[in-house]
Amino acid sequence: MIQDSWGRVRHELLKTIGQNNFTTWIEPLTLAEFDDGIARFLAPTKFMRDWVSRNYAEQIRQHLNNSGLEVERVEFHVSEARPVQAAPSARRSAPRAVSAAPAQDTLPGAPLDPRFTFDTFVVGKPNALAHAAARRVAEGAPVSFNPLFLYGGVGLGKTHLMHAITQELRARFPEKKVIYLSAEQFMYRFIQALREREIIAFKELFRGVDVLMVDDLQFIAGKDSTQEEFFHTFNALVDQNRQIVISADRSPGEIKGLEERIKSRLQCGLVVDLHPTDYELRLGILQQKAEMQRGHYPGVKLLPGVLEFLAHRITTNVRVLDGALTRLFAFASLVGRDITLDLTQDCLSDVLRASDRKVSIEEIQRKVAEHYNIRLSDMVGPKRQRTVARPRQVAMYLAKTLTTRSLPEIGRRFGGRDHTTIMHGIRKIEELKATDGQLSDDLDLLRRSLEG
Ligand code: ADP
Ligand code: MG
Repeated sequence: MIQDSWGRVRHELLKTIGQNNFTTWIEPLTLAEFDDGIARFLAPTKFMRDWVSRNYAEQIRQHLNNSGLEVERVEFHVSEARPVQAAPSARRSAPRAVSAAPAQDTLPGAPLDPRFTFDTFVVGKPNALAHAAARRVAEGAPVSFNPLFLYGGVGLGKTHLMHAITQELRARFPEKKVIYLSAEQFMYRFIQALREREIIAFKELFRGVDVLMVDDLQFIAGKDSTQEEFFHTFNALVDQNRQIVISADRSPGEIKGLEERIKSRLQCGLVVDLHPTDYELRLGILQQKAEMQRGHYPGVKLLPGVLEFLAHRITTNVRVLDGALTRLFAFASLVGRDITLDLTQDCLSDVLRASDRKVSIEEIQRKVAEHYNIRLSDMVGPKRQRTVARPRQVAMYLAKTLTTRSLPEIGRRFGGRDHTTIMHGIRKIEELKATDGQLSDDLDLLRRSLEG
């Protein structure tokens, strides 16, 4: 009877927390006992016990109550001394319970996003090499480079590729132990092992994997004992010819607070960077994401030119691009209109504005000073000769047209000038532009190079 309730609750949980979280955290649980308002669960490891009790205890309790049991408290215990390796289910002892679930991999690891696969990863020039290397690792062929080190700025697809490798390897080689986790989780687990005097088990666990994937390595910069442990794990795996994949927001050499010996070991593998997206890649990604949105909002019509506009205007990172598109479709569906350029500008004005700020006044001043061969300091200084004053006015004009800064703000950046001075400068350039072909060419050139 209680197992029936638990079965129903599991079903509910699957719906609310998603397949991935369910498989990782709920499926391995066994309801061992229900006694005096207390439901006791067994979890295969301490880590899982702690995670589940921190993150899912209350949900589980409420669902149990909804299913008709009067549960005041839920408790989680570790089911056996410790399954160091991924223990097959038969070895997991859950003596008092009837487990409804097939055993899950009890190795620790972070949940994966099912959408992050190779199928959904759009390849372009900036990420082609990283993608090819990731694919190679996912084929599971004998290790040819170790580690694979992927780096690049925020939102360029590092985590996406790491998840894609993990999911593909798990699908192709179910018998292989493939762990994916962030460097932060590695540290957390290491500290926990220290505290609970389980360091030997910790070492065995990590040294017994076939493929280790560590995301956001920069996190352990400056964390000495975690680095030390990571280094040993790393060496042990490399010695056994096990594949390691690491990501970080910058190259090994650029991570401050990372030990030299670790840097040099990391550099021994294949170091590949994900470059900032270019227009074609952004457009490709938008087209793919738009296709997915159409699935959610079949009634919404996307007009030509909108994706091109977004690819041109939002150059920060793919996450922003993705979020913009999601919002656009939801908004269009809500107000029952087609996605036109107008609607896009309305709906995304904040995102578009934020992207505009990419051109900074400092950059404009630098470019203009270079172009006219004057000193940068003259941009903000008091000199009034035409050879200096005119370029300064050009920079003011570009600051007004290429950024969203107000006149007083622009004035401040030009050595604390009054906003009327800025206004005057802008008017002057607008006038001259109409008659002075050279100036008009200069402006075009500067604008293109700044926006490029
Ligand atoms: P990072 O880990 O480098 O900060 P993520 O992998 O989390 O970036 O990517 C951010 C978002 O952008 C995710 O939703 C991801 O799916 C998407 N994304 C990034 N690059 C691509 C790509 N080439 N194709 C499709 N989606 C991408
Ligand atoms: Mg990431």
